[in-house]
Amino acid sequence: MAHVYDMVIIGGGPGGYSAALYAARAGLDVVVLEKLSAGGQMALTHQVDNYPGFSQGIDGFTLGMQMQEGAERFGAKTEYAEVESLDLHASPKRIETSEGTFYGKTVVYAAGAGPRKLGLPEEEALIGRGVNYCAACDGMFYKEKTVVVVGGGNSAVADALILARIAQKVILVHRRDSLRAEKVYNKALKEAENLEFRWNSTVESLLHNGKVNGIVLKDVHTGEKTELACDGVFVSIGRKPNTDPVRKQLELDSQGYVSAGESCRTNIPGVFAVGDVRTKALRQIVTAAADGAVAVHYAEEYLAGLH
Ligand code: NAP
Repeated sequence: MAHVYDMVIIGGGPGGYSAALYAARAGLDVVVLEKLSAGGQMALTHQVDNYPGFSQGIDGFTLGMQMQEGAERFGAKTEYAEVESLDLHASPKRIETSEGTFYGKTVVYAAGAGPRKLGLPEEEALIGRGVNYCAACDGMFYKEKTVVVVGGGNSAVADALILARIAQKVILVHRRDSLRAEKVYNKALKEAENLEFRWNSTVESLLHNGKVNGIVLKDVHTGEKTELACDGVFVSIGRKPNTDPVRKQLELDSQGYVSAGESCRTNIPGVFAVGDVRTKALRQIVTAAADGAVAVHYAEEYLAGLH
């Protein structure tokens, strides 16, 4: 007879391990399925200064490990496994992974989101060597340098403004001739003297000598290509929730995030969505951690109803 957990948590970021901590402390039999290492997107963050309790900040990888250890201290388990498919309507709910099948009375989906990538050939290989996806995390490495920000939405503009306070020069590359970002940013954009725009342009390729030292821009109208020297590129073209395994079962919003309100309940009873993967106004470590606690509260209510 296969083991049936009270709760299977998919994703070991702050939402997942917060749920694991609350579930384990509530005496639930809980496992976290994590494909890489604890922390999720947070683990890639050099310095976390906006999670309370760490007066000098903490690096995201260490914080992830500590969240894992904290949950495991109360009996939560971690299995390193990649989820391949799920049957969330089944009873118990069934999760097929690279390491075998897991069964849970409840499922907390905490798979997070990731930055949208440009899709350039060497983009992945140059992450951490000039290619970045988070100005607030990695901007500080570009003091007095020249950086390119790609995108035209609120995130790109917010990133460009952060970087303009650190870098010597910031070049915002956008594929159209006007920004999608809200007008609230206009004044700050005009006042940033070290910020330039390259309109109607896409990044054709990354130039590097092991580290990014430039990009090739392509004019979307003429096709003309030009080289632009820079020390780093911040890709800020939106985020992509990790919902591929659940998109046929869970209701998603128009942006592809799991439709779950502050209770974290989804359209399927006993299935909860927490952290960056769910519809929410503010995607932060602290809000993901809060979701984990809330989801366990409602999961306990659900489990009580099963008996
Ligand atoms: P977004 O609003 O979807 O904007 C993405 C930008 O990237 C767009 O300008 C888009 O160009 C461009 N883009 C997309 N794919 C591209 C590609 N392959 N190559 C080049 N450019 C590409 O994403 P976001 O800025 O990350 O914002 C996401 C959500 O968070 C939005 O709802 C936003 O309002 C919100 N947000 C709010 C704030 C705030 O209120 N302060 C801050 C950050 C984010 P086009 O314009 O041509 O489509």
